[in-house]
Amino acid sequence: MKEEIGKIFRGEILDDETTLKTYSRDASLFEVRPKLVAFPRDSEDLKNLVKWTKENPGHSVTVRAAGSDMTGGPLGESIIADVTKYMNKMGEIPEHRGLTSVLVEPGMFYREFERKTLEKGLILPCFPASKNLCALGGMFGNNCAGEKSLRYGKMENFILETKVIFSDGNEYTIRPLYRTELDTKMAQGDFEGNVYKKLFGLIENNKEIIAQAKPRVSKNSAGYYLWNVLSRALDTFDLNKLLVGSQGTLGIVTEMKLKLVPIKKHHDLVTIFFKSWEELPQVVNAVLPLDPESLETFDKDTLKLGIHFMPEIAKKSGSNLLSFALKFLPEALIGIEMRGLPKLVVLVEISENTEEEVKNKVQNVVKAIKPFNIWSRVVKKDSEEEKFWVMRRESFNLLRQHVKEKRAAPFIDDFCISPDKVPEFLPRILKILRENSIEANIAGHAGNGNFHIIPLMDLRRETERAKIPVVADKFYDLVAEYKGTITAEHNDGIVRTPYLGKMYSPEILELFKKTKEIFDPLNIFNPGKKVEGTLEYLESHIIIE
Ligand SMILES: Cc1cc2nc3c(=O)[nH]c(=O)nc-3n(C[C@H](O)[C@H](O)[C@H](O)COP(=O)(O)OP(=O)(O)OC[C@H]3O[C@@H](n4cnc5c(N)ncnc54)[C@H](O)[C@@H]3O)c2cc1C
Repeated sequence: MKEEIGKIFRGEILDDETTLKTYSRDASLFEVRPKLVAFPRDSEDLKNLVKWTKENPGHSVTVRAAGSDMTGGPLGESIIADVTKYMNKMGEIPEHRGLTSVLVEPGMFYREFERKTLEKGLILPCFPASKNLCALGGMFGNNCAGEKSLRYGKMENFILETKVIFSDGNEYTIRPLYRTELDTKMAQGDFEGNVYKKLFGLIENNKEIIAQAKPRVSKNSAGYYLWNVLSRALDTFDLNKLLVGSQGTLGIVTEMKLKLVPIKKHHDLVTIFFKSWEELPQVVNAVLPLDPESLETFDKDTLKLGIHFMPEIAKKSGSNLLSFALKFLPEALIGIEMRGLPKLVVLVEISENTEEEVKNKVQNVVKAIKPFNIWSRVVKKDSEEEKFWVMRRESFNLLRQHVKEKRAAPFIDDFCISPDKVPEFLPRILKILRENSIEANIAGHAGNGNFHIIPLMDLRRETERAKIPVVADKFYDLVAEYKGTITAEHNDGIVRTPYLGKMYSPEILELFKKTKEIFDPLNIFNPGKKVEGTLEYLESHIIIE
């Protein structure tokens, strides 16, 4: 296989033990061993790889960017194509007034991309908490979101145009098409034309059930977003609205034209400390109309984790331990007043173009939260703000790297419901965790009602592993009861594809299958994700270490 592919592929192809082991893992609970790992030099290589796979039954291609996925999305049993080694270039950012765009390849790491955009005073504001780990292709594949998504939305809002390799092995430009352009495309009679024709037919013939199925939450990464492709308001048909978040199951993105926004020049952070979860929705409701850029939260256990791993956090925020620890003095004093650690910390970031606007908005936030039984503090210096953001962003990473004997087990890690239902919902899920003797950390995007629950488990023990499907089943039933989504950001992968039926009807699941068949009739792109993922597969690929 390696020799055969080597004849049509110019990049490296590796199948040594170390490489296969490395690529058997991402940041999820799973281990899946591939047959080989290919590092394409360019889209020609990828096209040839796809053509080879199409002509050799039994093989598949799973595209991988930085591999920080928490769902098993970039894991596969056949060929892994890692785009970070060579397909990592970025175009010039044009001089701009206001919004602008940039071309980027999928293998570019976000941290490098951000360094370049910030030089121009611009940002791609949907970056995830894993911004120091991930790459642009995976951000597309998962339709990522993060701390600024409250104001700016998810990755899907920033895609202007892409180049995508379809399962026929050819590369196509994907952009919104007006009706006449769509008609021309559908009349082509080739693979691309048929994709448009069949998908348009599927969407038109099922418009009512598709519209009903659209999750009524502020963010969603579950399933195929059939409801977003045809915009009746704009009279456009945009395949990118479906390809984004499809985890490389419909096509491989080789280039993206992304919209960038100017960074706000001034910002302050209001930190709020809660004794209980109960008042969270009222505080969120009081703060949301004041247009914060972020409204994030983390729980007492995450805070404890931050305190425990303070040296590491100090390093990540570029300070020495002593000066970093001293920065917590005001919070320590609040802790004394509160008689202990807060149960919950909420971060409200106010960002605007002038100092005056920030000052006014911060005053409004402070006034709005005054009636509640909480403690708060306005943090003005970047260096002091950073400690909270590092703690918020790094909590899961610290758990992954440092917890002894147990490991972070993300399987109920990304629900999103209406924010006002969170205090009712959380005790119910915490009860399920308690009944199953599972400890967990919680952090999330309070403004969106999107929370990350990360259990800590000893997966060497069969009894612990056996809890995963039991708890997941109850958890996703509960999310369905609250009409939420089972994943707002992290996506489906191995961990959630079997549970898509908890939030979507059998008719919609059937349309997902048909969508996959339209794009990938031979099932060569990342099989088992989004459609046809089973509980048996999930259970039999959990890491045992
Ligand atoms: C500590 C931590 C925190 C996280 N926080 C967040 C968060 O706040 N928000 C969030 O959304 N996610 C979060 N994640 C999950 C993950 O990091 C992000 O979704 C990230 O965008 C994935 O990028 P990646 O480059 O690592 O992708 P990968 O893991 O390599 O791939 C992700 C998916 O995209 C597909 N893909 C990759 N490249 C392409 C391509 N060229 N074309 C088509 N599909 C492709 C893959 O097949 C896979 O299914 C977090 C993960 C960790 C470990």
